[in-house]
Amino acid sequence: MKRRSKHVQKKRFYSIIFIIILFLLFRYTDVKTILEQALVSNVSTELSVHFIDVGQGDCILLKTQDNTMLIDAGNKGDFPVIQDYLASQNVTKLDYLVLTHPHEDHIGSAANIVKNYKIGAVYMTDFSADTKTYRSLLKALKKKHYTYEIPAVGESISLGEAILTFVGPVSSYDNANSMSLVIRAVFGSNSFLFTGDAEMDSEKDMINQNLNLESQVLKVGHHGSSTSSCYVFLKEVNPKYAVISCGTDNDYGHPHEESMSRLNDVGASVFRTDKMGTIVAVCDGKEIRWNQNGMESTQEHVEDIVLDWIKKGTNEFKKITGIE
Ligand SMILES: [Zn+2]
Ligand SMILES: [Zn+2]
Repeated sequence: MKRRSKHVQKKRFYSIIFIIILFLLFRYTDVKTILEQALVSNVSTELSVHFIDVGQGDCILLKTQDNTMLIDAGNKGDFPVIQDYLASQNVTKLDYLVLTHPHEDHIGSAANIVKNYKIGAVYMTDFSADTKTYRSLLKALKKKHYTYEIPAVGESISLGEAILTFVGPVSSYDNANSMSLVIRAVFGSNSFLFTGDAEMDSEKDMINQNLNLESQVLKVGHHGSSTSSCYVFLKEVNPKYAVISCGTDNDYGHPHEESMSRLNDVGASVFRTDKMGTIVAVCDGKEIRWNQNGMESTQEHVEDIVLDWIKKGTNEFKKITGIE
């Protein structure tokens, strides 16, 4: 009797030590999210996310079994490219059109999209532009008797089994880029953060609001500009994969070396539309399958370190305690 209770005490001691070390080595949120991701998968369909190659601009299609969303609409001349791509994916209507902010490289083809597709709901940010493109967009919306909504931070919408939450902008900015709508999409244990052209001020304010930003895939802000993707933000999002939508030899030199270096530091594999064309991520709620090979980081991603450590630790724990 005495020996058994000593053995139980020893097992309990090692269990507590194991858990304490795990949480000491990594941030509580890292361990918690990674464990949750490993355990949770409550979806029965697939979600595909298509970062359409529109050169220097953004245009992202989200597609579930029965639903579609388009985030941004590339440049004015990109409409044939977008139209062909949507046709190749059998997309004839959009449940949602999200226009992150009114810069030309995000709303360029929006008027044509509104004219040519049936759209369920349009979301825009609270920032107008005195441009011909913006005016034609408003005109096209009016002609189809569509109105647009300005979503509140924390507002969620569903796209099939995916839940999308608007997490930014949390404040008002003079700069259109930082007024970009920011969306976090969760599908089973897969997660994405779409940031438009949000810059560091918006990134820092989102962190200060204690919003859950942690995401496996980050659509890198502002085409990889050094004015976005600050280190604290990347630490908070902790992306395993990062997608940069930019044009070959673009005038801005995007993506900038500084942001590439910071993405490398957090251990994110980087995908670039200028190098790889259209990038597609297919999610089943657990795994993400890519149509391209990302450029791997020289650093190990924290998720891989934690999972590896849990595996090693569990084996060691079994050896010491005999608990299966
Ligand atoms: Zn842009
Ligand atoms: Zn912009």
